[in-house]
Amino acid sequence: MVKVLVNGACGRMGQAVLAAVLDDAELELVGAVDVRGGADVGELLGRGANGIVVADDLGRALDEKKPEVMVDFTRPDVVFDNVMTALQHKVSPVVGTTGLSDEAKEKIREESEKQGTPAFIAPNFAIGAVLMMLMARQAAKYMPEVEIIELHHDKKLDAPSGTAVQTAAMIAEVRRAHGQGHPEEKEKLTGARGADYEGMHIHSVRLPGYVAHQEVIFGGLGQTLTIRHDSTNRESFMPGVVLACKRVRSLRGLTVGLDQLLD
Ligand code: NAP
Repeated sequence: MVKVLVNGACGRMGQAVLAAVLDDAELELVGAVDVRGGADVGELLGRGANGIVVADDLGRALDEKKPEVMVDFTRPDVVFDNVMTALQHKVSPVVGTTGLSDEAKEKIREESEKQGTPAFIAPNFAIGAVLMMLMARQAAKYMPEVEIIELHHDKKLDAPSGTAVQTAAMIAEVRRAHGQGHPEEKEKLTGARGADYEGMHIHSVRLPGYVAHQEVIFGGLGQTLTIRHDSTNRESFMPGVVLACKRVRSLRGLTVGLDQLLD
């Protein structure tokens, strides 16, 4: 049994993770933390009280509950401090919160190695999204003109999504950086052409009704190829989160991306 603490437990993803950990025979939920502490986890999930109360101080909860793994689905502005706190307690972070910069990830890598405590970050825990990214990297070798459209619910704080940035980074491994579109094109409204990642344009849609979706569109002579992934329910992320909880302690240093855990 792997002892797990869930941080951001009262949030949309946090609650889904609580349920997934409780329902898995090889994981044991030992604690839950959220700025909105106080609730009983079982009551929060509508399953009846189970005596695990959501705490509001991560450091103290790590001291008291002694988990092996901390799952973090909080906010882009607090996730770095949460991960450093976990590592300093020699607890392995499994991080789904997006928005960590490359510099922050590098500091996490250093702290993970210093503490001898493995860490895992995935911008997307859905297997379909991982396959979309791998297929996009493959397609970009032959069709290097590409734009990304990501679509999310309107409560999302960061843009572009971590998945879009990770997709662009993977495509950039096989695509020479170059500008796209007409060299003299002009935006008549600022932002019309989206964000620019080595010449690839990324467009972020935020609307109620969406969960997490992405299209990677490749253009070639007389043809286009679209690779699309849709998470229509937050359960789509749970097999990946559960797998990472089980595997993280056997990794070394920082591992980024669910693809690193697949055969
Ligand atoms: P959410 O519903 O806002 O949940 C975040 C929870 O964390 C809220 O209850 C929030 O409380 C709480 N929180 C804020 N600061 C905290 C702190 N310092 N310590 C502990 N808890 C804190 O957001 P969500 O939709 O679950 O998404 C969470 C993150 O996961 C986002 O970054 C999102 O992009 C990411 N995400 C990743 C994946 C993936 O596969 N990797 C999938 C979906 C979402 P308040 O509401 O009071 O601030």
